[in-house]
Amino acid sequence: MKLVSRSEWGAAAPTGSFTRISSTTGVKVHYEGSAVPAGLLGDHGRCAGHVRDIQRAHINDPNEDWIDIAYSFMVCPHGYVFEGRGLGRRNGANGNPTLNGAHYAVCAMLGTSGITSPTDAMLDGLVDAIEYCRAQGGAGGEVRGHRDGYATKCPGDELYSWVQRGAPRPGGGGGTPAPEPSGDSAGVYTVQPGDTLSAIAGRFETSVAQLAAFNGIANPDLIQVGQQLQIPAPPFPGREHFVLGAHSPYARQLQSWLEAGDWGPPYRVGPSEDMEQLDLEKVAALQEHYVGDLGPADGLTGPLTWLYAYQTAHGLRAR
Ligand SMILES: [Zn+2]
Ligand SMILES: [Zn+2]
Repeated sequence: MKLVSRSEWGAAAPTGSFTRISSTTGVKVHYEGSAVPAGLLGDHGRCAGHVRDIQRAHINDPNEDWIDIAYSFMVCPHGYVFEGRGLGRRNGANGNPTLNGAHYAVCAMLGTSGITSPTDAMLDGLVDAIEYCRAQGGAGGEVRGHRDGYATKCPGDELYSWVQRGAPRPGGGGGTPAPEPSGDSAGVYTVQPGDTLSAIAGRFETSVAQLAAFNGIANPDLIQVGQQLQIPAPPFPGREHFVLGAHSPYARQLQSWLEAGDWGPPYRVGPSEDMEQLDLEKVAALQEHYVGDLGPADGLTGPLTWLYAYQTAHGLRAR
């Protein structure tokens, strides 16, 4: 679990004392319900500031006498679990003191605009938080939505249906599914006259060490013309980096591949760190070409679309 403690996110001190609890029936799942900035998606560096904003808003809420952030934990789109009131303390989010004492309150950074749909990392983080409440906070096995037993739309239809399905990890099964397939080969390259391992590594956006390890090459100076090298697939960083409005270096990487592969309408300026409509159109053009493998051509980038974009940009897949 990627736990971010109160001191790590810069929590203010509570304005009163917490009510201690030693056990609960389970955990209730929440969403923020208001606008959650989409810019958080591509920039985990902003998540702690968002939690501080929530804490400030709760403490200053004129309609509640909250002494602190109301939630027990908050989970960001990148799967980090931010300690709110934490374990062993009654939360303030479930609707009334009885409900607050009966279930811990775990809130996803989701709302009615901006970020409206949970990322896989977020669902994993929610399960991490729930398991943590059980393992160390005396929580029972129940997982419910805020709307269970209280009149509210929270945690939104999508997250609530996930709760009703038993709050499963997105990959299925237990453990933390790594969003990184690497270890697979993206294709084969035949060494040409004049090639060095470092030139080949540069061309395929990997490192000499990675390329050597992947092919069991002990001495990087001893590669031979005609030798076939397996090219390691670039690890997939997660779907959240490629939705409309996301911002990250991965967006630039994907866009450079789409440009090199000549997919979709050309860029006026060039690749950037922002995912825009044009980028989704390029992704859709790639998906349309390989629709049997990548369809439907919805412009959303998952691990296979990421791999095909890389392969077609580097001459590792036939068109
Ligand atoms: Zn709620
Ligand atoms: Zn984050």
